[in-house]
Amino acid sequence: MAKIEEMPEGYGGEGFFATSLDKAVGLARANSIWPLPFATSCCGIEFMATMGTNYDLARFGMERLSFSPRQADLLMVMGTIAKKMGPVLRQVYIQMAEPKWVIAVGACASSGGIFDTYSVLQGIDKVIPVDVYVPGCPPRPEQIIDGVMKIQELVKNEPLRRRHSPEYQHLLEKYQIA
Ligand code: SF4
Repeated sequence: MAKIEEMPEGYGGEGFFATSLDKAVGLARANSIWPLPFATSCCGIEFMATMGTNYDLARFGMERLSFSPRQADLLMVMGTIAKKMGPVLRQVYIQMAEPKWVIAVGACASSGGIFDTYSVLQGIDKVIPVDVYVPGCPPRPEQIIDGVMKIQELVKNEPLRRRHSPEYQHLLEKYQIA
């Protein structure tokens, strides 16, 4: 079933509706996200199911997957990330244009999961900032969709100036990205 988007806050009357630029841009961005699936193992298979007809991620305006970081604004990390893979993931993140968001899908991406070993990164937030964590090993497609909807809320409500704020610059500096 198609998703009906709620109207943003604003003033309406007969034949007109007015809202702020932030809200209009946020609404457009939230419903035209281009995800980059960074899938390394089993959680990636759940994502494939999420893209299928049964769960139909396309109804969120997300049917266009991007395998090029420069044409993506949502990095979805799904699977075990080895420490050797950390710099690659970081480079992909850096190559994405602002504004960009990140979901850690599943226990491995969020915390290393069951792989508490010398070779596995204990969470992707050791190398890049994360906006939403989806728990589960693996998470079901419904959980992945829930994570996507949480991202949509963040996107809709993000002030246009956030990416230029000292707080955001400080966050990037912490990851030695700025
Ligand atoms: S969280 Fe579980 S299902 Fe997902 S990649 Fe790790 S081991 Fe596989």
